[in-house]
Amino acid sequence: MIIQLKKDISDKQKDALIAEVQQTGYKITEVKTQLGDYLIGIGKKDFDIRKIGQKEGIQDIHIVSDEYKLVSKKWKVAPTTIDLGDGICIKDGDMAIIAGPCSIESEDQIRKVIGHLKENNIKMMRGGVFKPRSSPYAFRGLGLDGLKLWYELAQEAGIKIVTEVMQVSQIEEMYPYVDIYQVGARNTQNFNLLDELGKVDKAVMIKRGISGTIEELLQSAEYVFSGGNEKLILCERGIRTYERASRNTLDLNAVPILKAKSHLPVIVDPSHGIGLREYVTQMALAGVMAGADGIIYETHEIPEKAYSDGQQTLDFGQSGLLSDCIRKTFDMRKSFDLL
Ligand code: PEP
Ligand code: MN
Repeated sequence: MIIQLKKDISDKQKDALIAEVQQTGYKITEVKTQLGDYLIGIGKKDFDIRKIGQKEGIQDIHIVSDEYKLVSKKWKVAPTTIDLGDGICIKDGDMAIIAGPCSIESEDQIRKVIGHLKENNIKMMRGGVFKPRSSPYAFRGLGLDGLKLWYELAQEAGIKIVTEVMQVSQIEEMYPYVDIYQVGARNTQNFNLLDELGKVDKAVMIKRGISGTIEELLQSAEYVFSGGNEKLILCERGIRTYERASRNTLDLNAVPILKAKSHLPVIVDPSHGIGLREYVTQMALAGVMAGADGIIYETHEIPEKAYSDGQQTLDFGQSGLLSDCIRKTFDMRKSFDLL
């Protein structure tokens, strides 16, 4: 159950309300986000909300049977818009394109990627400065200095930054320079990190865990939301299955399912999803048709020389073509009027 409280509810009213609901066997957790105050009730399903629905101080009340509550569409039907400023949004009914290298490598590379994005009217750039690598001997990113450099150049170009945060201590130092904090697939269930991201007022994109279910992804989003931050984006990036012909198995089933279960925008990452450059385009377009609100993919001026994930990275020619095809496919999807 979600009880949304009015801003002006008094402590006395709130305490009385909590006591009354607790008496029925519900366990209550108070949640304060940047946008609202809520009481989350966990308990039996046959509670009759009419008993308390008229009480003073209550804005809205809903029974939400899902394990996750605040990210559920059963509570909030209207889709959530992520507004990054300067007219750049990620939202239902729109198609966000986020492109860039797997890793930020050098000033020269940043300049080249930004030039390519500008040419193709792509307004959001991805890139890792803190890289989670399977081998400790692999390139692990330029760190905060790389991010600062990137920020300066991106600012000049009017481009927004999407980059991975790997641990709690990085959140604050990264804050001035990021537009979207990315939570990587290896950190989807790092609950301390999620709790702390609940305290910031910038958008957070949570990638699906490598072996994570759809439900677990939504629960991870619930952590950030209940921690206070409603600016959330979900990202399907492929899961580990028994299949070895592709790096991961891009679970496009997740797209319509997530869209039906949650009000949050859903993005597809075909680069990590299939892991093979020659098929990234097809899977990106399949993601658009599956109902995604955006696509995030890897591009680099010379993919063969990329410090990480070159095998799944598009060159600028392929990337330009893909961005064009994403827009055309999205127009086609809209014309079908099915989704
Ligand atoms: C990345 O985006 O480069 C990345 C490491 O992604 P994931 O966490 O999905 O593996
Ligand atoms: Mn990568």
